[in-house]
Amino acid sequence: MKRRGLLLDRDGVINIERDYVGTREQFEFMPGLFPFLNAAQDKGFRLAILTNQSGVARGLYTAEDHEKLTAWMLKELAGQGIAIDLVLACFEYEGGSVAQYKRESFWRKPNAGMVLEAVQRLNLDIARTAFIGDHPRDMQAGLAAGIGQCLYLSADGKDMPAGAKLVRGYAEALTNLSG
Ligand SMILES: [Mg+2]
Repeated sequence: MKRRGLLLDRDGVINIERDYVGTREQFEFMPGLFPFLNAAQDKGFRLAILTNQSGVARGLYTAEDHEKLTAWMLKELAGQGIAIDLVLACFEYEGGSVAQYKRESFWRKPNAGMVLEAVQRLNLDIARTAFIGDHPRDMQAGLAAGIGQCLYLSADGKDMPAGAKLVRGYAEALTNLSG
């Protein structure tokens, strides 16, 4: 049977937004994140993190740095009883400086690639799946993929794309997930 999914942007949703977080030293979990993810998990949502990591294409950190950070992040979340079913990252960026990753990618949000990949790999019921992100690009990717609920995590809703739903914090997001 298909499951509901909660797809999460990383920077600004899982960890505090700082420009190009590639190492553990720069990575700080968002306050209130753990109870939010625990509650979503208890409601039966499968969890996936979908993140643009153009810092790799820009040469600010390497793919290996990212994988190391991801392994640490998953261990910390597991220690809080949170199982993330999938992490997808897009290293490519057409304006990058590292030849290997200097190109356009269908995976890079606002494109729908990572969202569709997660839906397929986790066998998600797309109409009953939610995507939460703090950037218009996240919402555009979710809307392009046909995700049921695109939740825009923002204090003021500035630049929110039409079709997304404003949530000012995790509590409000959770209320939406109940429906
Ligand atoms: Mg973000």
